[in-house]
Amino acid sequence: MNLNALFLFLLGLVMGSFCHAFALALQQKESIFIRRSFCSHCQQPLHWKDLIPLISWLRLRGRCRYCHQKLSIRYPLSELILALLFFQSALQFGIGWKLIPILLVLCILVIIAWIDYDTMLIYDRFVLALACCGGILIMYSSQSLFSHLFGAVAVSGPLFLLAWITQGIGYGDVKLMAAAGLLLGWPNILLAMLIASFAGSLVALHQLLIQKKSGKEKIPLGPFLALGIIFALFWGEPMLSWYIHCFI
Ligand SMILES: [Zn+2]
Repeated sequence: MNLNALFLFLLGLVMGSFCHAFALALQQKESIFIRRSFCSHCQQPLHWKDLIPLISWLRLRGRCRYCHQKLSIRYPLSELILALLFFQSALQFGIGWKLIPILLVLCILVIIAWIDYDTMLIYDRFVLALACCGGILIMYSSQSLFSHLFGAVAVSGPLFLLAWITQGIGYGDVKLMAAAGLLLGWPNILLAMLIASFAGSLVALHQLLIQKKSGKEKIPLGPFLALGIIFALFWGEPMLSWYIHCFI
């Protein structure tokens, strides 16, 4: 058993809970440090034993202790996602200084995804924080500085034109892909965009065909971009070397 990975899993559970609460508190312009968690149905403040990441939700079978209404799946989902990503980070990157900016990137992306999902907004401060982490991670990268700088504009440049001409996507998405491009470099940022587009198209198709929506509803891109960026961060380089190995 890899104890470091286990520790990171537990840390991820806690950070997942924190990031979700932070995203909600920011939207409601509250401080996370004074904000009390309460049931959204009966408004009953939650006890500390109802707030243990994942465990409380499982123990209460996803229902409020007081009014027995269903609790949002978002809490355990956020906790589990970050726990698994932290776990994978420990396994893949090992314990070292590099791990800190990687964990920060994951937290920032989860916060961006939740806020964009709720409000269709991507806050500049998180994009800036992502770019800073990207700048730090360049020091540990096997790619050249040029590939990271090119990555910053390779996808965000065409996206900017698309946003300008069609108004179909937000400038927040453009800025997010610029920061992610700096972080991932070229061609990983292209992989991130392809995965985001593929996942976004699947959801749009599902809405159109299964949920019978009109197709005019706006879908927040942030969660899909975050998914693509995370995938490329972990598996971009292995995929690229596999691709080169197979075809060249
Ligand atoms: Zn309740």
